Formats: sequence, C-alpha cells, structure tokens
Amino acid sequence: MQHIETDYLIIGAGAVGLAFADTLIAETDAHITIVDRHGKPGGHWNDAYSFVSLHQPSAFYGVNSLELGSGRKDTHGANAGLYELASGPEVSSYFDKVMQHKLLPSGRVGYHPMCDYKGDGRFVSLLSGAETRVTVRRKLVDATYYGTSVPSTHTPKYKVADGSWLMTPNALPQLWWGKRGRPGHFVIIGAGKTAMDVGVWLLDSGADPASISWVRPRDSWLVNRLHTQPGAEFFDETIGGQADQMEAYAHATSVDDLFQRLEACRAMLRIDPDHKPTMFHYATISMGEIETLRKITNVIRMGHLQTLEADSLVLDQGTVPLAAGTLCIDCTASAVERRPTQKIFQGDKIVPQLVRIPQPAFSAALAAYVEAHHDDDKTKNRLCATVPFPDGVDTYPASTMASMMNQFNWSQDKALRTWIRDSRLDGFGKLIAGIDRADEEKQAVLQRLKTNAFAAMANMPRLMGGPASA
Ligand SMILES: Cc1cc2nc3c(=O)[nH]c(=O)nc-3n(C[C@H](O)[C@H](O)[C@H](O)COP(=O)(O)OP(=O)(O)OC[C@H]3O[C@@H](n4cnc5c(N)ncnc54)[C@H](O)[C@@H]3O)c2cc1C
Repeated sequence: MQHIETDYLIIGAGAVGLAFADTLIAETDAHITIVDRHGKPGGHWNDAYSFVSLHQPSAFYGVNSLELGSGRKDTHGANAGLYELASGPEVSSYFDKVMQHKLLPSGRVGYHPMCDYKGDGRFVSLLSGAETRVTVRRKLVDATYYGTSVPSTHTPKYKVADGSWLMTPNALPQLWWGKRGRPGHFVIIGAGKTAMDVGVWLLDSGADPASISWVRPRDSWLVNRLHTQPGAEFFDETIGGQADQMEAYAHATSVDDLFQRLEACRAMLRIDPDHKPTMFHYATISMGEIETLRKITNVIRMGHLQTLEADSLVLDQGTVPLAAGTLCIDCTASAVERRPTQKIFQGDKIVPQLVRIPQPAFSAALAAYVEAHHDDDKTKNRLCATVPFPDGVDTYPASTMASMMNQFNWSQDKALRTWIRDSRLDGFGKLIAGIDRADEEKQAVLQRLKTNAFAAMANMPRLMGGPASA
C-alpha cells in the first residue's frame, strides 16, 4: 500500500473542490491532495449532454484565479444580447486548464483521478485496485456534498417496460447512429432545466412543435437571466432589479404574493402564465428560451410518470397512449440532491456548501478564504453560515434570509469585504464599488436597494411563517 502525506485532502474535483483548492493555494502555503472518481477534473460536467451550457453567465462560474470565457455577448439564439454561457465542453476544458495550468504547476497539489475515496484517509485506484493511505496533517475537505445527479448517471424512479423507447439527453444528438429510424413523436419527461434544454434543443434542431409532448408534473418559477448580467450596461436590470426584489420582499404578505411581485418586476418568469408554479430550484432562463418553450403546447399535467409502457405513459392521474415510434427522453435527474445542511467547519473536516445563493463556486472559494485567515471554527461558521438550497417555493425566503445575513456579516470584516470585491466569482460588488459618487441616478438606485434590503429583512420572518418585526 502506498502512503502519502498532505495538509488538505479534498474529495471531489468538481466546481466546488476546485474553487476551494484554487483559493486555498492562493491564500496559504498548504499542500493539497485531490481525489476523484472521474478521469478528468470538472465533476458532473464530464457526464453532461453535449448541448448543455451554464444557465448563468460564465463570468461568475469556475475558480477565482482564472476567467471563464472572454466576456463576449451572444449575438444569436435564445441568449442573444446577453453575456455568454459556457457550453458543457467549454466548462470541461476550463476545469482541465485549472488543473493543468494552475493547480499542478503550483507544485503543491497532488491529483488522483480515477480513484474512489473509501473513508478513513484511504482511496483505491479504479484501474489498478491499488490502495493509498493518506495522512492528513490539517483537514479533510468533503467536496461531494451536493451529490449532483445528471441524466446519464442516474436511474429513473419510474418503471420502464420492455419495448419502450427511452433515452437520455446525452444520446439525442446521436439519433442518426440508431437503427430505429426517425422518431414519429417525442415525449420529454421531467419539469426541470434539463427538460427545458431538451425542448429548446429539439425545436432549434428542427423538430416540429406539434411532434413534442412534455410530461410536466409541476411548473417552476425561473430566474430571469437578464437580471444576472455582469456588465455595467445592465445596471438597471441587475442592481435596479435587486432593489425591486427587495421591495417585493419588504411588502409581500405571503410566499404566493412574493412570487407574484417578483414576476411583476420581471425578476421571475414562468413558461405558462395560466399555471401556478410550485417549484423553485434557481433555474435561470432567458425570455428567448421561454418563447421557444411556449411553442410546445402538448403539456401532460397528470402527475409523475409511474411506468413507461411500450405503448403508453402510466401517470399518477391516468394513462396516455403513445403512438408507435415515440421516443421518450428522460430528464428526471435532480441535479442538486436535497440534503440537510450541516456546519461547514467541523474540526478536522470541512464540508463546503452554499454561503450565498445560488453560487456554489463563489461559496466554496469564500469558505477557503475564511479557512485560510481565521483560526477558530466558531468564527468561521459565523462567517460561513450554510444557506439551504430552496426546495419548492416555501423555503425560498429562508434561503434568501440566510444569504443576506452572511452578506451582512461579511460587510463587517474589512479583509473579507476586500477579497469579495476583488473576486471574479462575486456578482456585483465591483460594479457597485465602481459607481461614480456624482452619478445621482445610480446612487439613488443604490440607496433604494439599501433601504429596501432593511425592510425586506424585517418582513422576512412573516414570509418564513413567523411574525414580521415592527
Ligand atoms: C446541467 C447543470 C448546469 C449548471 N449550471 C450552473 C450555472 O450556470 N451556475 C452555477 O453556479 N451552477 C450551475 N450548476 C450547478 C453547479 O454546477 C453545481 O452545483 C456544481 O458544479 C457542483 O459541483 P460539485 O463539485 O459540488 O459536484 P460535482 O460536479 O458532482 O463534483 C463532485 C465530484 O466528487 C466526486 N466524488 C464523489 N464521491 C467520491 C468518492 N467517494 N471518491 C472519489 N470521488 C468522489 C465525483 O466523481 C465528482 O467528480 C449546474 C448544474 C447542472 C447539473
């Protein structure tokens, strides 16, 4: 058995593990060992369908020390006019570059791909079976908390009968390989962002909208991507948009009322205005994508799929016949698994989780900065209180509240404040800091944001089920 020593042992070379490692290397002289089952860095992006892309601008994703993308805007397609979204292959190649051009050349990183971490400081090569024992001088970093689930690696919860035609989005672009010929009809199964990607891809690639059915057990509120743009020219939509959102939080009388207000100020979108969404997982979308998806009018709202038969869909609330030659596409993987939050700093173990919604990479980098510059877990956990990922609409206020509390605590720590402002992963700190004091119009927006944020905090307990503070 091989034996190695390291300061930090990081399990997982996905966005979270790499963002954490990158900042730790920048802020300390520690040695890091990274272990991952995948053959390449980038975690779930290794298993993604070929037409996947980020759903938020590239500007805020990845690791702190390396830009992702070139800061260009898309000129065509559903994201036209908005800042670029890295495609899946771009994200994978970016993370490879992070490893090859940044982390390994530091001379302080050991990377062990194709290795399964077994616990107790032991990992086993998936190729040779050789076991390595690691003595961890400082801490174990468990960067696997999110348990990201993507279509190609998950198992559908519904039964699949012999003779049915089911594939993952990964296989769709390879339809021309198959022997079954052209599908007569398509059925998208699932209601999340993957299902939306598949709908847009089918339509953009030439499928007739009438040839598509969509099993959508629930509808989702969606973040308007226009309000997440990094450039100063989007000030009104981003900072002005945040001021509007805080105003909505400040005056909302219930969660339903909150989402209606957020829709009224264009912060939230939905595909079908006639159906009330009950789901919110921070999927981010453009108006262009919404308009494309609205072309699919055959939406099956009969609950979840129980069994995919060769000639029918058996759903919670009934059965829908399928014509011969119907291709079903499984889009039911959950992306982020819902797990109870835990403290991030746990003695000799760190479990990176969200400290700001919805930014896993920024959150991991910030946790590494805090690890590098503070000594006791109590302070670290105060600065990095975990923010629960919203599951459904009702938990959104609690997530927002936790995120805002962290923001407030960071603003009290000068060094951390400066690090955040200079971090490429931070959303809008630099933009706000760069506003000319003499620009009265923009200063008024900032003041509105501040005032509304305090009012929002006061109203938050009411939206979380308790009384609003006076
Ligand atoms: C399609 C899609 C698009 C997304 N778009 C965005 C976006 O635009 N912006 C954004 O901020 N977020 C986005 N997200 C969310 C974000 O990508 C993920 O939250 C983040 O990438 C998850 O990274 P991770 O490192 O936590 O997980 P993963 O990418 O799953 O990495 C975890 C790694 O741990 C390894 N691992 C687990 N257990 C073990 C073990 N025992 N031994 C060895 N290795 C192990 C796995 O092999 C994996 O490589 C998106 C998610 C999906 C699915």
